[in-house]
Amino acid sequence: MAGLNFLHTPGPTFLPEEILNAMNRQPLDFGDERIAELVAGIQPDLQTLFQTRADVFIYIANGHGGWEATLSNICDPGDTVVIPMTGFFSSRWVEVARALGLEIIEVRSTDGHDVDYAAVEKILSEDRSHKIKAVLGTQIDTGAGVAHDIKRFRGCLDAAAHPALLVADCIASLGAAEFRMDEWGVDVAITGSQKALMMPPGLALVAANDKAKAIAAANVRPKLYWDWQARNSEIIYHRFCGTLPIHLLFGLRAALDLILEEGLERRIQRHQRVASAVQAAVAEWVKGGDMEFFVPEENCRSVSVTAIRVVSDNASAETIRKLARHQFNVSIAGGLASLENQIIRIGHLGVVNTPMILGCLGGLEATFEHLGVRYSSGLSAAAKVLSTPL
Ligand SMILES: *Cc1c(COP(=O)(O)O)cnc(C)c1O
Repeated sequence: MAGLNFLHTPGPTFLPEEILNAMNRQPLDFGDERIAELVAGIQPDLQTLFQTRADVFIYIANGHGGWEATLSNICDPGDTVVIPMTGFFSSRWVEVARALGLEIIEVRSTDGHDVDYAAVEKILSEDRSHKIKAVLGTQIDTGAGVAHDIKRFRGCLDAAAHPALLVADCIASLGAAEFRMDEWGVDVAITGSQKALMMPPGLALVAANDKAKAIAAANVRPKLYWDWQARNSEIIYHRFCGTLPIHLLFGLRAALDLILEEGLERRIQRHQRVASAVQAAVAEWVKGGDMEFFVPEENCRSVSVTAIRVVSDNASAETIRKLARHQFNVSIAGGLASLENQIIRIGHLGVVNTPMILGCLGGLEATFEHLGVRYSSGLSAAAKVLSTPL
């Protein structure tokens, strides 16, 4: 259908004109002093975004690259890490850790529920020889739509008086949910450009504090592209281990301008409100009996993505998703791995405003109508949430 397409996946997300326009230009040569100024100017704003004084490394990579960059620096082969299972993305993190030769202690939890923090603490307390090098926690796992409490991971480490590093995957949450790297005692934090930062895929941002960098400096794993020490150079070409992703940096500058202009706090409130609107609509939809919240506990539902289990006789999750995309101009996400064709996921992170989210929900209701999925309309419930000024 003619008109706008509504992209509501939890990455990639809708690209604001300001960011597209910032990238629509010819490259500069690396010797141009404007490049050095651009890179120097981005660093403090990234630190504001992560709420940290730590260095932020910029990789030409996706989120997987951010994971590999981090683990390559902080772990030698044979080291042990604890990974609380949060959904599809923690499972992928396990794969990366395994590929790098690490020993992994997985902490199981039930699908759609929060992490078992007591189990994490127990594992750390029992590790008297301190063989565990890091706890790898995910703030929002977009596979399941569950939000986790990074501060509680720090609490587990502190309660066990364990020196392991705390690494946070805030790929789907930085710029959408509150995140305070230094205050929360996070040693390494990882994000990607294509989620709440409203950018195209292609940049992984990794903030590493002095403790993490000291461990990295003492490690022996062979590496070059990911190496923090090699990147901590005055030479800009070395900071990127090669050619700079110039256009993505132009885009990142524009994204940081948009984020700081809106203000982090206000932006977090906007995300909370849009998420509440979606979840108010879904609370109506489920009354029809053909859908259920994937995350039963309201306070564990994330501000970035809402996952809905489809239990209809008239349409599967993938049928809904395909029709919504091709007939009604709304792109949402489906289930990953074991959840394939079980759930749909509505992304509501980045630049989402009131008419965008109502458009998304309206397109989905048209899809349910067309397919005979039983639901009760949630549009007015969502509009009610969105009707008060921020
Ligand atoms: C999207 C996502 C990733 C993976 O990012 P890619 O860019 O696909 O490699 C990792 N963790 C979380 C929580 C994510 O949402």
